[in-house]
Amino acid sequence: MLVFLFVQVRGDRALRAFDDMLSSNLDKAMKKDGINVRGGSIIKALTKESCDGTITIHLEDGTSHGGFNAVIKATGRTPVTKKLNLPADVELHQSGHIVVDDYQNTGVPGILSLGDCTDKKVDLTPMAIAAGRRLGDRLYGGSEYAQSKADYSMVPTVVFSHPVMGTIGLTEKEAVAKYGEENLKVYNSSFVNLWYVSASASASASASASASSSLSHTH
Ligand SMILES: Cc1cc2nc3c(=O)[nH]c(=O)nc-3n(C[C@H](O)[C@H](O)[C@H](O)COP(=O)(O)OP(=O)(O)OC[C@H]3O[C@@H](n4cnc5c(N)ncnc54)[C@H](O)[C@@H]3O)c2cc1C
Repeated sequence: MLVFLFVQVRGDRALRAFDDMLSSNLDKAMKKDGINVRGGSIIKALTKESCDGTITIHLEDGTSHGGFNAVIKATGRTPVTKKLNLPADVELHQSGHIVVDDYQNTGVPGILSLGDCTDKKVDLTPMAIAAGRRLGDRLYGGSEYAQSKADYSMVPTVVFSHPVMGTIGLTEKEAVAKYGEENLKVYNSSFVNLWYVSASASASASASASASSSLSHTH
């Protein structure tokens, strides 16, 4: 079976909010694996062709790409907070995210918010749970926990891409913006992890085995 894989991303490459080093290396790795990464792709519509049942993707720039058997959509979520009829003093971003302070308070005493629907968050389940626990501690844990709050600054994050990536803390751009370029030293080091060393070694071993078996067959 022949599989053509296309990844359509809105920015110039996937994971553009991550450190440049991570997103550019992933971009290179995906292209090396034969994945067609199409940047600047804002999808307007999907249509199913009546002749062969394949799907055509229509982009906002007016172009269309057809012939797909399957399209998998993997986008983020928009909070539907506008429907909640919250008091006007609960401030909402244009995106619908509820504005909260470091202690998950909205502008209205007694109305608190945490997790993905707020503007102060990292969109990960353990972080929503941690924020809930800190808030529970603060509200019901007595004076010992009066200042309890979630710390969003150093959240370890894994991306289940190929290769898998892990990251924590500020990106380089964020660090430059926060501390100034003159106050930073940036160290880069690259290595191939053992899984990929053995995978590429076994791929080249089987390639040379099949080459030598076809050679011996010829002889
Ligand atoms: C496709 C996808 C993949 C993800 N993968 C990962 C992952 O691998 N690892 C990870 O850590 N995180 C992952 N996340 C993020 C993670 O799911 C969220 O960060 C987490 O669920 C946030 O928890 P939450 O309680 O804020 O919101 P949610 O889990 O969304 O909970 C909100 C709840 O409120 C309910 N609700 C909404 N409106 C109302 C209403 N008016 N009345 C009553 N109930 C209402 C909803 O039905 C929902 O049950 C993923 C998210 C998505 C969308």
